[in-house]
Amino acid sequence: MTTHQAHCLILSYPVQGHINPMLQFSKRLQSKRVKITIALTKSFLKNMKELPTSISIEAISDGYDDGGFHQAGTFVAYITRFKEVGSDTLSQLIQKLANSGCPVNCIVYDPFLPWAVEVAKNFGLISAAFFTQNCAVDNIYYHVHKGVIKLPPTQNDEEVFIPGFSSTIEASDVPTFVINPEGERILEMLVNQFSNLDKVDWVLINSFYELEREVIDWMSKIYPIKTIGPTIPSMYLDKRLHDDKEYGLSIFKPMTNECLNWLNHQPISSVLYVSFGSLAIVKAEQMEELAWGLMNSNKNFLWVVRSTEESKLPKNFLEELTIEKGLVVSWCPQLQVLEHESIGCFLTHCGWNSTLEAISLGVPMVAMPQWTDQPTNAKFVKDVWEIGVRAKQDEKGIVRREVIEECIKLVMEEEKGKLIRENAKKWKEMARNVVDEGGSSDKNIEEFVSKLVKCKS
Ligand code: UDP
Repeated sequence: MTTHQAHCLILSYPVQGHINPMLQFSKRLQSKRVKITIALTKSFLKNMKELPTSISIEAISDGYDDGGFHQAGTFVAYITRFKEVGSDTLSQLIQKLANSGCPVNCIVYDPFLPWAVEVAKNFGLISAAFFTQNCAVDNIYYHVHKGVIKLPPTQNDEEVFIPGFSSTIEASDVPTFVINPEGERILEMLVNQFSNLDKVDWVLINSFYELEREVIDWMSKIYPIKTIGPTIPSMYLDKRLHDDKEYGLSIFKPMTNECLNWLNHQPISSVLYVSFGSLAIVKAEQMEELAWGLMNSNKNFLWVVRSTEESKLPKNFLEELTIEKGLVVSWCPQLQVLEHESIGCFLTHCGWNSTLEAISLGVPMVAMPQWTDQPTNAKFVKDVWEIGVRAKQDEKGIVRREVIEECIKLVMEEEKGKLIRENAKKWKEMARNVVDEGGSSDKNIEEFVSKLVKCKS
């Protein structure tokens, strides 16, 4: 028996920062009666102890079923083989779902894997690219693709003109792969996201209109753009999804009780939360400066140091640290932490998920971007949304402890930081409104769903 329900196949690049926004978007679609199947690589699934129970997940192959990216050794090897093997196994999955009586009618794919468009076309399916980064970052890669941005610049403070932005930005605000020749092969892939984007039916962006009006209006003249974020669980925003317990997928295990018990004993807005996400590798010298910057600050802190980074902590730091002053954990339930009333500031690498989560939960930031799109996100946090400061690096590329201390003080207690703290509260309200009924992202999701349903009937 064939059903007439719209059915989306979601294909993500297999890292948690890409999968989780697509998972949250899937939950929104599912709440609007769209059937969802998420395709994940066998190598990624192997490391997952727990999988969502409310959404159907199927395995495909990236050609490296034992170790995924690590087995491939290089980024180029991984992407190349994923294209060859992934196209076949994705096609087999589409066939299998058709045979099972619930055929797919749309592929929502991660543009890191642009070959998915060809697969969609072969089967006559609707295709939608899902950009996990914000529109400003996508706009920069688009203009590198078009050859408009001529980089690398010679100096970090060189002004770069980018169509779609109201003013020039400094070279140090541009994603690192664009300005650093070592990132050339990765940049090739990022630019390749646009290679066949003119063939897709929709371009979905993990952001919201009010956050990036200008650049979204500009990009919308080129592509059929729809913003659908923020993609964080509804329980933290509009609370409209009933089955919304699932937090997301991660290979790390959060130290939930330790963190929440400790936070429960802290006064309101008194704690600094510090995390550099799931991937960033911080220089040992930077780690040392950060450690003493936190210790010397007059704030208590919760610091996530992944186990692979732990050896970089200064020798006597953990010995000197008292439980009253700070807690260092290997992983935490970040959304629960950011939502906690004791949190007054987030010192962050400005990964886009972390930035969107801080915006959605109204937490002002000290930005310490490390690589990839993080400098651009930090630029917007500081200068456009005015919800944080950016800790300045010295000529060696290190943020010194005194600078860290000053930034924390400014955001958390000084009069100068008042506007930042107020703005953070305003954006929180806005983030909730856009996904709530009739909000800009909710309307876009509704429009997407009606198109899917119309094509199905
Ligand atoms: N995160 C978490 N616990 C932690 C640190 C991070 O759950 O202790 C989550 C965080 O909520 C975010 C993701 O990991 O959803 C990090 O994504 P982001 O895009 O900020 O950075 P990336 O890890 O991709 O560099």
